Amino acid sequence: MTSQFTVAKFGGTSVANFEAMHRCAQIIHDDNQVRIVVVSASAGVTNHLVTLTQQKADLAERKSLVKAVLDIQDAILEKLTLDADLATDFSQTISEFEQLAELPALSAQQCDEMLSFGERLSSFLFTQVLRNLGVAADRFDVRQVLKTDNQFGKATPDVNATANAAEQHLMPQLADKVLVTQGFIGSDTYGQTTTLGRGGSDYSAALLAEAIGAQSVQIWTDVVGIFSTDPRLCKKASPIARLSFDEAAEMATFGAKVLHPATILPASRSGIAVFVGSSREPQAGGTWIEKETESKAGIRAVTQRKNQILLTLKSPEMLLASGFLARIFTILSKYNISVDLVTTSEISVAITLDNALSSSRPELDQACLEELSEFCHVTVETNLTLVALIGSEIQLRQHEVNFMNVLKDFNIRLICHGASKHNLCFLVEQGESDEVVQSIHAQLLEAC
Ligand code: ADP
Ligand code: ASP
Ligand code: MG
Repeated sequence: MTSQFTVAKFGGTSVANFEAMHRCAQIIHDDNQVRIVVVSASAGVTNHLVTLTQQKADLAERKSLVKAVLDIQDAILEKLTLDADLATDFSQTISEFEQLAELPALSAQQCDEMLSFGERLSSFLFTQVLRNLGVAADRFDVRQVLKTDNQFGKATPDVNATANAAEQHLMPQLADKVLVTQGFIGSDTYGQTTTLGRGGSDYSAALLAEAIGAQSVQIWTDVVGIFSTDPRLCKKASPIARLSFDEAAEMATFGAKVLHPATILPASRSGIAVFVGSSREPQAGGTWIEKETESKAGIRAVTQRKNQILLTLKSPEMLLASGFLARIFTILSKYNISVDLVTTSEISVAITLDNALSSSRPELDQACLEELSEFCHVTVETNLTLVALIGSEIQLRQHEVNFMNVLKDFNIRLICHGASKHNLCFLVEQGESDEVVQSIHAQLLEAC
């Protein structure tokens, strides 16, 4: 099933206020291939909702958080009157939000319900902004089609169930109108609300594009594409016109916040081109991510991912014995712990884990540590950052002199290279990592 349609996603800053929404609506108005619009919560809203789920807030604080969320919507509504069909459901959604915020403690499922209100509210407002520009638009509740498991906080999509539901509920409506729907949220088999993890709206857009067989997905954000590093960190970072799926996936995985790490998965699986551009400057172009690119061999970007844990496991008994790694990985998998980098020697292994602060559970479980300690000596180091050089056919030899020159000033904890020709990763102390990235960018990316 393929279509000529495009899915367009607008992130938090792109729908932060009426003026921003209006700019985005103009992009849709001017491009009649876009039939599905995926919106994030307005900037700041999800952070308030996360605080509401954390149960540290008393009733007065909860009320002020609810007010902060509603103030953001109200500022947009001052410039907008909702049509009757939208107004009724909007009020109903706000009542549900206020009622849930009354509860002092929320279950994991209720936390996801709470987190869902940002996208649910912004999608009403965006639909109206589009209608005011003369675009035939309706709001669509994505939970009807984006089906997931019930791992609340970080649900895994069910691609087949999503495709089937999209064929039934979404496709028949696309011929003559634009549907405005929510990023980040989905529902499990019982219809309970789930979320895909922070920043998940990019992933939603790619999943919906896959489900309707779209030819492309547009990610509209606050930067004119994917840069050689975070442009907030390096003034001289430059936008990259084309990236392969592999390169973009590596960048997203290793910390380029501009794309949720899983976004490229559905796109590359189904051959859907991804465009990243700025909703403030749609004419300025952006980055195209596609299967085949003519990228030159070498380093194209540097990324960083903070809050990493380094786990070193040592077992002298394992000298000349087999099964050490198997035993470790069986335990990690039992606790659902996902490992990033691995280096080994005969009797020890070092692995890194992501301890994303925004995730709902700590990556490293105490019970898991105890089980590992039964047969090896375990050391845990924190406050580390994973820095990654990304590109294609990366060979250390090409950059050896400069690379070693940059690193000589810093304390490098671990280096990984060789498993993928698209990255070279190492761990540094978190306090130094911005400087490491800036030095690498200056010496390896600005010079060429
Ligand atoms: P949105 O709310 O639109 O989803 P995000 O804040 O999630 O936007 O992502 C956009 C931000 O990603 C940019 O403002 C930029 O600071 C950051 N970023 C990090 N690395 C990169 C990179 N390599 N290229 C572009 N932006 C990056
Ligand atoms: N609103 C969600 C967040 O802030 C999802 C997203 O914006 O992509 O994480
Ligand atoms: Mg984002």
